Amino acid sequence: MILAIFALFCVSEIVVFPSQQDIYLEAIDVDANDRLIFYSPHENEAVVNDYVKSHIEASPARYFVLRQAGNRHIHLVIQDQVFEVDPNRIFTICGAEGSVRDLNDAADIDQDLMASAVDRAVELGQFILNQFGPVSSETVWIALHNNTDGYEDDGREGEGTVSIDRYQMRLDFGASFLISVFKSHADEDDLFWTTKTEDHDWLGWHGYNSVLQNPDVAVIEDEDDGSLSVFAEMRKVRYLNIEAERFNPESGKGVDHTFTQMHMLQAMIEMLGEQEWWH
Ligand SMILES: [Zn+2]
Repeated sequence: MILAIFALFCVSEIVVFPSQQDIYLEAIDVDANDRLIFYSPHENEAVVNDYVKSHIEASPARYFVLRQAGNRHIHLVIQDQVFEVDPNRIFTICGAEGSVRDLNDAADIDQDLMASAVDRAVELGQFILNQFGPVSSETVWIALHNNTDGYEDDGREGEGTVSIDRYQMRLDFGASFLISVFKSHADEDDLFWTTKTEDHDWLGWHGYNSVLQNPDVAVIEDEDDGSLSVFAEMRKVRYLNIEAERFNPESGKGVDHTFTQMHMLQAMIEMLGEQEWWH
Protein backbone atom coordinates (compact mmCIF):
# COMPACT_ATOMS: atom_id res chain seq x y z
CA MET A 1 0.00 0.00 0.00
CA ILE A 2 2.78 2.39 0.90
CA LEU A 3 4.51 1.52 -2.34
CA ALA A 4 1.32 2.11 -4.31
CA ILE A 5 0.88 5.53 -2.76
CA PHE A 6 4.52 6.33 -3.35
CA ALA A 7 4.19 5.34 -6.99
CA LEU A 8 1.51 7.98 -7.48
CA PHE A 9 4.00 10.68 -6.59
CA CYS A 10 6.06 12.21 -9.26
CA VAL A 11 9.07 13.30 -7.26
CA SER A 12 9.39 16.71 -8.76
CA GLU A 13 11.10 19.74 -7.30
CA ILE A 14 11.64 23.30 -8.37
CA VAL A 15 15.21 24.58 -8.59
CA VAL A 16 15.20 28.35 -8.98
CA PHE A 17 17.88 30.18 -11.00
CA PRO A 18 19.34 32.44 -8.30
CA SER A 19 20.17 35.37 -10.64
CA GLN A 20 16.62 35.64 -11.98
CA GLN A 21 14.01 33.89 -9.94
CA ASP A 22 11.22 33.59 -12.54
CA ILE A 23 13.46 31.09 -14.36
CA TYR A 24 13.63 27.62 -12.89
CA LEU A 25 14.21 23.96 -13.55
CA GLU A 26 11.51 21.44 -12.87
CA ALA A 27 13.69 18.58 -11.61
CA ILE A 28 12.23 15.08 -11.56
CA ASP A 29 13.63 12.11 -9.67
CA VAL A 30 17.02 13.52 -8.90
CA ASP A 31 19.09 10.79 -7.22
CA ALA A 32 22.77 10.43 -6.62
CA ASN A 33 24.82 8.76 -9.36
CA ASP A 34 22.28 9.26 -12.12
CA ARG A 35 23.81 8.27 -15.45
CA LEU A 36 21.06 9.37 -17.80
CA ILE A 37 20.06 13.01 -17.91
CA PHE A 38 16.88 13.85 -19.81
CA TYR A 39 16.46 17.53 -20.62
CA SER A 40 13.75 19.65 -22.25
CA PRO A 41 15.20 23.12 -22.95
CA HIS A 42 12.31 24.60 -24.96
CA GLU A 43 9.20 24.93 -22.85
CA ASN A 44 6.78 24.93 -25.81
CA GLU A 45 8.15 21.58 -27.06
CA ALA A 46 6.51 19.23 -24.62
CA VAL A 47 4.95 16.43 -26.67
CA VAL A 48 6.68 13.59 -24.81
CA ASN A 49 7.23 15.18 -21.37
CA ASP A 50 4.47 13.33 -19.52
CA TYR A 51 5.61 10.02 -20.94
CA VAL A 52 9.15 10.61 -19.67
CA LYS A 53 7.88 11.70 -16.26
CA SER A 54 5.76 8.57 -15.91
CA HIS A 55 8.75 6.29 -16.51
CA ILE A 56 11.54 7.90 -14.63
CA GLU A 57 10.81 6.81 -11.06
CA ALA A 58 13.25 4.26 -9.60
CA SER A 59 15.58 4.76 -12.52
CA PRO A 60 19.21 5.77 -12.90
CA ALA A 61 17.87 8.81 -14.74
CA ARG A 62 16.83 12.33 -13.87
CA TYR A 63 14.75 14.71 -15.91
CA PHE A 64 14.90 18.50 -16.13
CA VAL A 65 12.47 20.88 -17.80
CA LEU A 66 13.58 24.50 -18.10
CA ARG A 67 10.68 26.78 -17.32
CA GLN A 68 9.78 30.45 -17.30
CA ALA A 69 6.60 31.55 -19.13
CA GLY A 70 5.91 28.68 -21.52
CA ASN A 71 7.83 30.08 -24.50
CA ARG A 72 10.60 28.71 -26.65
CA HIS A 73 12.98 31.49 -25.65
CA ILE A 74 14.00 32.67 -22.21
CA HIS A 75 13.64 36.36 -21.36
CA LEU A 76 16.49 37.84 -19.36
CA VAL A 77 15.74 41.04 -17.49
CA ILE A 78 18.70 43.38 -17.02
CA GLN A 79 17.82 46.72 -15.39
CA ASP A 80 14.29 46.74 -16.84
CA GLN A 81 15.56 45.87 -20.30
CA VAL A 82 14.33 42.48 -21.59
CA PHE A 83 16.66 40.30 -23.67
CA GLU A 84 15.61 37.18 -25.46
CA VAL A 85 17.92 34.18 -25.59
CA ASP A 86 17.60 30.65 -26.97
CA PRO A 87 18.15 28.34 -23.98
CA ASN A 88 19.88 25.86 -26.27
CA ARG A 89 22.58 28.40 -27.16
CA ILE A 90 23.91 29.22 -23.69
CA PHE A 91 26.40 26.45 -22.93
CA THR A 92 29.39 28.39 -24.27
CA ILE A 93 30.24 32.10 -24.13
CA CYS A 94 30.46 32.29 -27.91
CA GLY A 95 27.02 30.71 -28.33
CA ALA A 96 25.38 32.91 -25.70
CA GLU A 97 26.84 36.03 -27.28
CA GLY A 98 25.62 34.98 -30.73
CA SER A 99 22.12 34.19 -29.50
CA VAL A 100 21.69 37.41 -27.49
CA ARG A 101 22.94 39.52 -30.42
CA ASP A 102 20.82 37.65 -33.00
CA LEU A 103 17.59 37.86 -31.04
CA ASN A 104 17.86 41.45 -29.79
CA ASP A 105 18.23 44.43 -32.08
CA ALA A 106 21.75 45.55 -31.30
CA ALA A 107 21.40 49.05 -32.82
CA ASP A 108 19.36 50.66 -30.05
CA ILE A 109 20.59 48.67 -27.06
CA ASP A 110 23.20 49.84 -24.59
CA GLN A 111 26.27 47.67 -25.12
CA ASP A 112 26.98 47.34 -21.39
CA LEU A 113 23.48 45.99 -20.84
CA MET A 114 23.97 43.63 -23.79
CA ALA A 115 27.20 42.36 -22.20
CA SER A 116 25.37 41.84 -18.91
CA ALA A 117 22.68 39.86 -20.73
CA VAL A 118 25.35 37.62 -22.24
CA ASP A 119 26.85 37.10 -18.77
CA ARG A 120 23.40 36.21 -17.39
CA ALA A 121 22.84 33.74 -20.25
CA VAL A 122 26.19 32.02 -19.62
CA GLU A 123 25.37 31.89 -15.91
CA LEU A 124 22.07 30.19 -16.73
CA GLY A 125 23.91 27.61 -18.84
CA GLN A 126 26.28 26.91 -15.93
CA PHE A 127 23.35 26.65 -13.51
CA ILE A 128 21.72 24.01 -15.73
CA LEU A 129 24.94 22.03 -16.16
CA ASN A 130 25.49 22.06 -12.39
CA GLN A 131 22.08 20.44 -11.94
CA PHE A 132 22.98 17.76 -14.49
CA GLY A 133 25.76 16.74 -12.10
CA PRO A 134 29.28 15.52 -12.73
CA VAL A 135 29.97 13.71 -16.00
CA SER A 136 31.69 10.35 -16.38
CA SER A 137 32.24 7.92 -19.24
CA GLU A 138 28.80 6.48 -18.38
CA THR A 139 26.93 9.77 -18.65
CA VAL A 140 24.35 10.22 -21.41
CA TRP A 141 22.63 13.55 -22.05
CA ILE A 142 19.28 13.07 -23.77
CA ALA A 143 17.63 16.21 -25.13
CA LEU A 144 13.96 16.22 -26.02
CA HIS A 145 12.77 18.59 -28.74
CA ASN A 146 9.82 19.11 -31.00
CA ASN A 147 9.92 20.82 -34.36
CA THR A 148 7.47 22.13 -36.91
CA ASP A 149 6.29 20.53 -40.15
CA GLY A 150 8.81 20.42 -43.01
CA TYR A 151 11.33 23.25 -43.25
CA GLU A 152 11.47 26.80 -44.57
CA ASP A 153 11.74 27.07 -48.36
CA ASP A 154 10.94 23.39 -48.91
CA GLY A 155 8.37 24.40 -51.51
CA ARG A 156 5.59 22.93 -49.39
CA GLU A 157 5.11 25.82 -46.95
CA GLY A 158 7.18 24.05 -44.34
CA GLU A 159 8.48 25.76 -41.22
CA GLY A 160 11.69 25.85 -39.20
CA THR A 161 15.07 24.29 -39.88
CA VAL A 162 14.78 20.73 -38.55
CA SER A 163 14.11 17.99 -41.12
CA ILE A 164 16.10 14.93 -42.19
CA ASP A 165 15.63 16.05 -45.81
CA ARG A 166 17.17 19.41 -45.01
CA TYR A 167 20.07 17.81 -43.11
CA GLN A 168 20.72 15.47 -46.06
CA MET A 169 20.81 18.52 -48.32
CA ARG A 170 23.13 20.38 -45.94
CA LEU A 171 25.48 17.37 -45.90
CA ASP A 172 25.41 17.13 -49.71
CA PHE A 173 26.33 20.81 -49.92
CA GLY A 174 29.30 20.42 -47.58
CA ALA A 175 28.04 21.65 -44.19
CA SER A 176 30.66 20.94 -41.53
CA PHE A 177 28.45 20.33 -38.46
CA LEU A 178 27.40 16.84 -39.53
CA ILE A 179 29.17 13.89 -41.15
CA SER A 180 26.46 11.33 -41.83
CA VAL A 181 22.70 11.19 -42.34
CA PHE A 182 20.43 8.15 -42.35
CA LYS A 183 17.11 8.85 -43.98
CA SER A 184 14.47 6.19 -43.39
CA HIS A 185 10.79 5.95 -44.27
CA ALA A 186 9.92 7.84 -41.08
CA ASP A 187 8.51 11.36 -41.29
CA GLU A 188 11.23 13.89 -42.16
CA ASP A 189 10.65 15.73 -38.84
CA ASP A 190 11.11 12.70 -36.57
CA LEU A 191 14.81 12.17 -36.13
CA PHE A 192 17.67 11.45 -33.75
CA TRP A 193 20.69 13.69 -33.40
CA THR A 194 23.72 11.69 -32.26
CA THR A 195 27.36 12.20 -31.32
CA LYS A 196 28.54 8.56 -31.32
CA THR A 197 28.94 6.55 -34.53
CA GLU A 198 27.66 3.38 -32.81
CA ASP A 199 24.43 5.11 -31.78
CA HIS A 200 23.93 6.62 -35.22
CA ASP A 201 24.53 3.24 -36.90
CA TRP A 202 22.22 1.39 -34.49
CA LEU A 203 19.39 3.87 -35.03
CA GLY A 204 19.89 3.89 -38.79
CA TRP A 205 19.88 0.07 -38.95
CA HIS A 206 16.70 0.04 -36.89
CA GLY A 207 14.90 2.24 -39.40
CA TYR A 208 15.10 5.68 -37.79
CA ASN A 209 16.15 8.99 -39.26
CA SER A 210 19.48 9.88 -37.70
CA VAL A 211 22.10 12.60 -37.98
CA LEU A 212 25.69 12.15 -36.79
CA GLN A 213 27.30 15.37 -35.61
CA ASN A 214 30.85 16.06 -36.78
CA PRO A 215 33.10 15.63 -33.69
CA ASP A 216 35.16 18.55 -35.01
CA VAL A 217 32.38 20.98 -34.01
CA ALA A 218 34.21 20.94 -30.67
CA VAL A 219 37.14 22.76 -32.28
CA ILE A 220 35.71 24.54 -35.36
CA GLU A 221 35.09 28.10 -34.15
CA ASP A 222 32.26 28.78 -36.62
CA GLU A 223 30.35 25.75 -35.34
CA ASP A 224 30.40 26.82 -31.68
CA ASP A 225 26.73 27.74 -31.37
CA GLY A 226 26.56 27.10 -27.62
CA SER A 227 24.11 24.22 -28.04
CA LEU A 228 24.13 21.23 -25.72
CA SER A 229 25.19 18.94 -28.58
CA VAL A 230 28.28 21.03 -29.32
CA PHE A 231 29.10 21.40 -25.62
CA ALA A 232 28.67 17.62 -25.18
CA GLU A 233 31.24 17.12 -27.94
CA MET A 234 33.64 19.48 -26.13
CA ARG A 235 33.19 17.48 -22.92
CA LYS A 236 33.14 14.13 -24.75
CA VAL A 237 29.74 13.27 -23.29
CA ARG A 238 27.50 10.83 -25.18
CA TYR A 239 24.59 12.95 -26.41
CA LEU A 240 21.29 12.07 -28.04
CA ASN A 241 18.49 14.34 -29.12
CA ILE A 242 15.06 12.98 -29.97
CA GLU A 243 13.20 15.32 -32.31
CA ALA A 244 9.58 14.85 -33.32
CA GLU A 245 6.99 16.99 -35.06
CA ARG A 246 4.50 18.97 -33.03
CA PHE A 247 1.42 21.03 -33.73
CA ASN A 248 2.36 24.69 -34.00
CA PRO A 249 -0.50 26.74 -32.52
CA GLU A 250 0.88 29.94 -34.08
CA SER A 251 0.57 28.69 -37.67
CA GLY A 252 -1.97 25.92 -37.18
CA LYS A 253 0.42 23.57 -38.99
CA GLY A 254 1.88 20.24 -37.94
CA VAL A 255 0.63 17.38 -35.81
CA ASP A 256 1.84 16.17 -32.43
CA HIS A 257 3.80 12.98 -33.17
CA THR A 258 3.35 11.78 -29.60
CA PHE A 259 3.32 8.05 -30.25
CA THR A 260 6.22 8.27 -32.66
CA GLN A 261 8.33 10.12 -30.12
CA MET A 262 7.37 7.58 -27.45
CA HIS A 263 8.47 4.74 -29.74
CA MET A 264 11.70 6.54 -30.56
CA LEU A 265 12.36 6.93 -26.84
CA GLN A 266 11.68 3.24 -26.22
CA ALA A 267 14.07 2.30 -29.01
CA MET A 268 16.76 4.54 -27.55
CA ILE A 269 16.28 2.98 -24.10
CA GLU A 270 16.76 -0.45 -25.70
CA MET A 271 19.89 0.79 -27.46
CA LEU A 272 21.26 2.05 -24.12
CA GLY A 273 20.49 -1.35 -22.51
CA GLU A 274 18.24 0.29 -19.90
CA GLN A 275 14.98 -1.60 -20.56
CA GLU A 276 14.81 -3.17 -17.10
CA TRP A 277 13.36 -0.05 -15.48
CA TRP A 278 11.51 1.32 -18.50
CA HIS A 279 8.19 -0.50 -18.69
ZN1 LIG B 1 13.87 22.55 -29.19
